[in-house]
Amino acid sequence: MSNMKALLACIFAAALPMAAADSPCPAGAFLDVSQSAGAGEGFPRPRVEVKCEADSLVVSSNAIPHYKFVQITPNPLVALDRDYRMPLYPKLAEDPSPLPLLGPSGVAINGIPLFGPNEGPVPYPGFGDPVYNAILDDCLGHTARQYHYHALAEACLAVGKRYGEPSPVLAFAADGFPVYGPFGCADETCSEVIEFKSSWDERRSPRNDAWDAYRYAPKEGAEYLDRCNGHSGNDHGGSYHYHATATFPYIMGCFSGTPASDVGRLEDRQLSRRGQRGGGPPPEPRPTAAQVRRAAVELGIKEDKLAEALRLTDGRVVPMNYAAAARALGIGHRALSAALGFELPQAGRPQRGRGRGRGGPGGPRRARRL
Ligand SMILES: [Zn+2]
Ligand SMILES: [Zn+2]
Repeated sequence: MSNMKALLACIFAAALPMAAADSPCPAGAFLDVSQSAGAGEGFPRPRVEVKCEADSLVVSSNAIPHYKFVQITPNPLVALDRDYRMPLYPKLAEDPSPLPLLGPSGVAINGIPLFGPNEGPVPYPGFGDPVYNAILDDCLGHTARQYHYHALAEACLAVGKRYGEPSPVLAFAADGFPVYGPFGCADETCSEVIEFKSSWDERRSPRNDAWDAYRYAPKEGAEYLDRCNGHSGNDHGGSYHYHATATFPYIMGCFSGTPASDVGRLEDRQLSRRGQRGGGPPPEPRPTAAQVRRAAVELGIKEDKLAEALRLTDGRVVPMNYAAAARALGIGHRALSAALGFELPQAGRPQRGRGRGRGGPGGPRRARRL
């Protein structure tokens, strides 16, 4: 019996669109991209392999789309091999945690990585909403160092789905929870299929600093999702999941579970070879209350104003971005990082960092009073 199971597991691992009915491994949710048209002539073939190992779902892909590539950004389409390792049995964390500012936060069922709902620092000052800024292709992806999604287009991923049907799984978040398309059953008997909606409001133009342009505000109604763009809805037996939505944050707004430790890191072989372990930039650290207090004194800024610029107020669970915070305060990025006791990642030479805010020479910045 168990030999039979092992044999079946082998067969199913090779043939992606099938999965054993009694297996928790969601390999069957992924697309068999080997049968697809691919990105076009001259590009590598798309590759996706899915397996379950003990407590992990492991997706290995080369981030090449399974449909014709249309160039939007100046970056070329290149294959970047990476494993995405996620919890096979996701659990809700005590508190939600922010998405990485840049880098993968999950993977779609065609092996393309999910990025958060903000772009990088280009064009200056950047970090805008890529959907609003219309810099995505029809499948809501584009290239940077790798092809990635900032939102999900059901038409590109939900093979064979008919109008009016509930959406299938389109992706998996780095915390292991599935991401369904926007449509689902309103109740357990599926008397109606409804479109699930984000609970984030647009407060100003999201051309730059998308995370400051939108705010989460809980709303009444079964169609509205939580801060992270998920719910424990009746549409999937009450188990927690996310929905892709038509508006910000488009995929996840934060992690409701505990993300894999390599979240935000590219971890691809090509970039690792260039010397940087992990390939991607480290996530910006969250300052402690004591660091904020000390930095406010050093910079001569009111503490609540500094906390607001750092996105630490109103229970917000959003990525840190010191460049955006410095801009909002009208001070230099370097001055803000130094006052908080952090080293600036791009700094040419190492800073003294830490002890600097404590009783050291404050310099002319102390003169600034707001
Ligand atoms: Zn992007
Ligand atoms: Zn749902």
